[in-house]
Amino acid sequence: MSDTEETTEDPFPAKVELHVHLDGAVRTQTLLDIAKRREIDLPEKTIEELDKKVKITKEEGLDKMLDAFDYFLPIIRGDKEALEQIVSDFCEDCAKQNIYYAEVRFAPHILVDPNSETERCRQVRDIVRIATDALKEGCKKYSIKLRLILCCMRNQPENAYEVLLLCDEFRNDYVVGIDIAGAEFLTDAESPLKTVFQEAHDIGIHRTAHAGEVGASENVREALDEMHAERIGHGYHVIEDEKLYARVKEDKIHLEICPSSSFRTKAFQGDVKSHPMKKFADDGINFSLNTDDPCVFATNLNKEYAIAEEAGLSKEQIIKSFFNAAQSCFLPDDERKELVKHLHSVYGNDSLWAVSS
Ligand SMILES: [Zn+2]
Repeated sequence: MSDTEETTEDPFPAKVELHVHLDGAVRTQTLLDIAKRREIDLPEKTIEELDKKVKITKEEGLDKMLDAFDYFLPIIRGDKEALEQIVSDFCEDCAKQNIYYAEVRFAPHILVDPNSETERCRQVRDIVRIATDALKEGCKKYSIKLRLILCCMRNQPENAYEVLLLCDEFRNDYVVGIDIAGAEFLTDAESPLKTVFQEAHDIGIHRTAHAGEVGASENVREALDEMHAERIGHGYHVIEDEKLYARVKEDKIHLEICPSSSFRTKAFQGDVKSHPMKKFADDGINFSLNTDDPCVFATNLNKEYAIAEEAGLSKEQIIKSFFNAAQSCFLPDDERKELVKHLHSVYGNDSLWAVSS
């Protein structure tokens, strides 16, 4: 059984997810299998033992989460079969959760084997090719629609241009956008990241950026004004800046909210009922509900919706978030309209989501 398997009847039979990291969606069993095949001698021999290293189930902060990634990424780096298995598992887990459409992201550079003799840029390209091929196969096998977003890392601006080139090369081949992830800080004016995002904008590659997660609202402003972000990953701290909040509402800027993640990384600290998502829902902000790193946080979308309900969101407000996600996804216009149409066929019409597609 996968980490994210549902066993009861699903109250939300057509889901849309926009913010999920492939490397945060690796099953513990798959890690054990890969380690065994590659003859990596892990001290942890069982799922329970390894879970203690790779899952964050309490409010332990961002550093603890990054430690979990540091622990398991070496197991999968530079291994084609591992990446294929992880993508295949991901597709299966999406299908089991009744995800109708998802955009999954990863930073190809963090999967490069530092000891490989293959030229690094060639390895990075191969990784994207393996991921897109495996995704196509998984989509076909599980009759599901998934696309990829490639991430730049904020602390590795030197790799950003390569990510942009890959987004361009694979733009008609399952890659739909570019992201910036990693520890959050303002980038300097001369950073290649800004040039890369400017160019992504100029050549029509969709853009999202992690900002205002553990960092300040100023990072959201930077992402919008200086990096042309169309969507913001997390963005909780935008509520601290009244003017910016009004702009996010007015311009319908999409916020990719990840409830469990926000508690575990301490991006939000406080009672669930005072979580910003409640205000976002009541104020008609354009936001979606996402898992971020489903296996690391031992979560799935229905668990995230349960947290949203605890925060005070109605079932209708949760469904509305699927329509928001569909409207703000990075698919071409005709496919985006099809997606909205499908959601209408499943959830009917309601004044809350009677939006023009
Ligand atoms: Zn994220």
